[in-house]
Amino acid sequence: MSVDRRIVLLACAASLFLNSPIGSQEPDYEVLTRLKAHIPPLSNSPGDRLPLLIWQTPDLPMGIDNNSVSTTQAVYLDRGMLPLCNNCGSPAMAKEYLPIFQYWKSKNVPICILPQGWLQAPFAGPANRLRMEHKAPAVQAPDFECAAAMLEIARETKHSGEIMETLAFLKKSEIPLKLLLVDFESGLYLRNQFEEKAHVAQAAVETSQCPRCVGEFGQATPLTAAPFSRIADRTRASITRSILTDPARTIYPDLQIGNYFAWPIHRLPPVKDHFPA
Ligand SMILES: [Zn+2]
Repeated sequence: MSVDRRIVLLACAASLFLNSPIGSQEPDYEVLTRLKAHIPPLSNSPGDRLPLLIWQTPDLPMGIDNNSVSTTQAVYLDRGMLPLCNNCGSPAMAKEYLPIFQYWKSKNVPICILPQGWLQAPFAGPANRLRMEHKAPAVQAPDFECAAAMLEIARETKHSGEIMETLAFLKKSEIPLKLLLVDFESGLYLRNQFEEKAHVAQAAVETSQCPRCVGEFGQATPLTAAPFSRIADRTRASITRSILTDPARTIYPDLQIGNYFAWPIHRLPPVKDHFPA
């Protein structure tokens, strides 16, 4: 499924409103006071609508640290809001968040989470297992990842053990996960300076000179930015399916999965000379 962009934008706006002005890394329970002062509880049933999903910034109170899960979470749920529990990306953290999920379950709230980093970790940081350089004669440099190599590795490794273990823990704990959001903005090129035409055009040239990429995607001499961005999107979609979507649905067959990325492709007016993944 794709999550309605309005929900995402509202959630971003809510996050800005909720953030502590001093940008604290500690839970700021004054947030609850501000919420109660400015946003009344829902007066109508939300029906089958998704809650307003809130990015869990470090200062967003969750009730775990001071043993107030039910009273803290009630402030959100009463207003049709749901924090995304961005930290629950490992079995250990999911265990820590279990009282929250159990409380939501007791209130029949559709359980939606966004474990931060699940689809970034394979492309960056210590794991970094999907990024490989092209084969010569293409330039071999970290800035130009080999899309064909990414696909090969994703096909072989199948899935992330940590993702599967976390979902298996939630299933075993009888948490009825409804919606899993991911934040996939990495791979082949980023939404930051790497989405600009000059970089994308160079990445396209290198891709068309790499024997492994030519074998995977066919000969196109030289590739230009637009067809390369389609290769990037196809690669991203294929990797998402092989390392996340298909394995996740072996545990939760009806799980809905969406992307929280603030620039859903083809959903906002294009910016000239930018090719966001
Ligand atoms: Zn390549």
